[in-house]
Amino acid sequence: MHIADILSRDSMTTSFEFFPPRNDAGWESLFHVIADFERLQPSFVSVTYGAGGSTRTRTHELVVRLKTQTKLDPIPHLTCANHTRGDIENILTQYAQCGVSNILALRGDAPLAGNSTSDFAHAVDLVKCIREFNNRGTHTDPRGFGVGVAGFPEGHPDTPNTLLQMDHLRAKVDAGADYICSQLFFDNAAFIDWKERCELAGIRVPIMAGIMPVTSIAGLKRMAELAGGTRFPAKLLRAVQRCGDDADAVERVGIHWATEQCMALLDHGVRGIHLYTLNKCAATQAIFQNLGVKNSAQLRST
Ligand SMILES: Cc1cc2nc3c(=O)[nH]c(=O)nc-3n(C[C@H](O)[C@H](O)[C@H](O)COP(=O)(O)OP(=O)(O)OC[C@H]3O[C@@H](n4cnc5c(N)ncnc54)[C@H](O)[C@@H]3O)c2cc1C
Repeated sequence: MHIADILSRDSMTTSFEFFPPRNDAGWESLFHVIADFERLQPSFVSVTYGAGGSTRTRTHELVVRLKTQTKLDPIPHLTCANHTRGDIENILTQYAQCGVSNILALRGDAPLAGNSTSDFAHAVDLVKCIREFNNRGTHTDPRGFGVGVAGFPEGHPDTPNTLLQMDHLRAKVDAGADYICSQLFFDNAAFIDWKERCELAGIRVPIMAGIMPVTSIAGLKRMAELAGGTRFPAKLLRAVQRCGDDADAVERVGIHWATEQCMALLDHGVRGIHLYTLNKCAATQAIFQNLGVKNSAQLRST
């Protein structure tokens, strides 16, 4: 389904992020977990793309399998780092042929060493390329692909000037992005303020709030590495510290924090939540349970 249709159909949009398995053995266990996610009836799911190259073909495979073997609506992530225009056009052609309706267009953080193959420096160039592809009318949907882009409530490390950063985000929307998915954050005030700043900058497309429950200390450290710029509030760190080496307690604290974030976001009229699931369903299920709903459909009707 085209993202514009999903966003107008669902008063409250939920999405889950998956990553492709790292090896062949991972497919079976992933699809067991995906069956659990399916019961939560998200508006759509998205599948990450390894900018470094390692899992790129598996992204395509997972998207196709989700599309053909489940009721989930998959949106592939696509990064332009280390890709030529020709590479990107081939990937878009393949996705169009198998009826994929939307793409999350990103720059990616691939290592730049020997980076002679990148035709595009920034995600905005990828958005433009997708729009040009759409204009050729090769997609079965006359509108072509719907396009999402990333946004950074607490700032992107490459652009310390936050006004300039907002200009760059606005450029992606002006180039044709249909929605923005935010980087994960733990401080709702930062997200709400950024959302207001987006509105002041004339950004009118829907913005989804990116939530990742902390489920382990190792996971928290990995998050800090991957989501450069994201702040970890002292209150959260103190709560995690209090758990000592009790891994279950850390998970409970993380789920509690994420639940409180979701509740407050819903109270603030945020109409889209994207859960970074790390392919584990228990935390997402617990958040839904804590919110008092069995699935996203119930969330949409509240
Ligand atoms: C929801 C989400 C999903 C993600 N999924 C993936 C994934 O699947 N695979 C992956 O590898 N990475 C993924 N990432 C990480 C992302 O690729 C990196 O964070 C990357 O550094 C920024 O990507 P972007 O698309 O926002 O890039 P851009 O929009 O290109 O921005 C990157 C930086 O360049 C600056 N900039 C933009 N335009 C210009 C310009 N014209 N001149 C100068 N500076 C400019 C921006 O201000 C920003 O600092 C994801 C991030 C998010 C938030």
